[in-house]
Amino acid sequence: MFEALQNEKQEAFEFPHKIRQISENQLLETIMIKTISGFKRIGEENAFTVLARAAELSAEGRDIINLGIGQPDFPTPEHIVEAAIKALKDGHHGYTPATGILPLREAVVRRTLQTTGVEISPERVVIVPGGKVTMFAAILMFGEPGAEIMYPDPGFPIYRSMIEFTGATPVPIPVREKNGFGFSGDETLSLINSNTRLIILNSPANPTGGVTPRAEIEILVKGLENHPQVAVLSDEIYDSMTYDGEKHTSLLTFPEIRDRLIVLNGWSKTWAMTGWRMGWSIWPDNLFDNMRKLAVNAWSCVNAPSQYAGIAAIDGPQDDVATMMAAFDRRRQLVVARMNNIANISCATPKGAFYAFPNISNAGWQAKQLATALLEEAGVATIGGPDFGILGEGYIRLSYANSEDNINRAIDRIGEFLQRS
Ligand code: PLP
Repeated sequence: MFEALQNEKQEAFEFPHKIRQISENQLLETIMIKTISGFKRIGEENAFTVLARAAELSAEGRDIINLGIGQPDFPTPEHIVEAAIKALKDGHHGYTPATGILPLREAVVRRTLQTTGVEISPERVVIVPGGKVTMFAAILMFGEPGAEIMYPDPGFPIYRSMIEFTGATPVPIPVREKNGFGFSGDETLSLINSNTRLIILNSPANPTGGVTPRAEIEILVKGLENHPQVAVLSDEIYDSMTYDGEKHTSLLTFPEIRDRLIVLNGWSKTWAMTGWRMGWSIWPDNLFDNMRKLAVNAWSCVNAPSQYAGIAAIDGPQDDVATMMAAFDRRRQLVVARMNNIANISCATPKGAFYAFPNISNAGWQAKQLATALLEEAGVATIGGPDFGILGEGYIRLSYANSEDNINRAIDRIGEFLQRS
């Protein structure tokens, strides 16, 4: 026994020498495999690059109006901040269970029941450091070379980036303006084949503000009966952000697919908590333990005071959320009316989230070039549609998480810029 251990130790000790002994070609090959794998394919979220460039230009003294980044411009409601401070003062500074503290998971259960009418078990809820982590985990679980994962195009750029990271093949689900920027149930079904492992859906959607009608989701769910090998990741992070009486449809309301459904949600958008890094995910029984183990391996737990703040967000007064939504609604109407007044631009009325996706295809510009020119020459940060997928060409994304005054000034500048260019 001792000898075996000693040999093992010896080998471990020798390991670096062994590496040095392999030929240069072998070494290069190893490095190549590592580089060619995931990290060569992993992408980025251009909104963060634009944010950095906008900050740089501001630091140089330029007056930049930021319609680029997707985060509420409101402060986190006071009672939520107080709950985090209290938690720290009460001594909640240590590790928590990897899946999150039980009272928080129970709060998520209450909120889910209230918004969807569906009662889930807290044993299926995992608290994660931001909504992104749920997509990271789900895509990691299903993605591998040979597998196909479907995702909305235009859509949140991290879906495709992560799919490519795993070596799986990304298959875009077209999201079209003529369908109110919702996906079509039939078209989505037509893209499924025997290699399809996961379908990612997002409604209300980034970057378009589109809300997919329940009828389309029903068609999709019905058709999924013929594809039992296909799981679904439903990104419902904008579930509370709809307008004009539009209703969000949670995929949880379809019991037929509950055993293969992962729901992504979180605090970032609804309660203006992007920097707190707080999300929740709901997992089917058979995947829950994978997620729990991933949490143990990767982040241990979400920071404790934020978790207490998360309970206050769900259970506390929702007046600040209502005030924020009323402001978003006014700004939404302002953006649509004013963008439609610019020659050669048409702007559909978004039904959800806080983005508008005006069509600029007749304005004589490629979308990404226009976004760059608007930032550098007109001082307005926007995101070019192609940063969200191939079908994003011909559009730019405007986040209206900014004051009405700034929105007016930004759109004045866009109009003037297009007139003189
Ligand atoms: N899903 C969508 C559709 C988003 O737009 C975003 C953020 O912009 C996220 C997920 C990620 O949210 P979080 O900031 O909580 O990671």
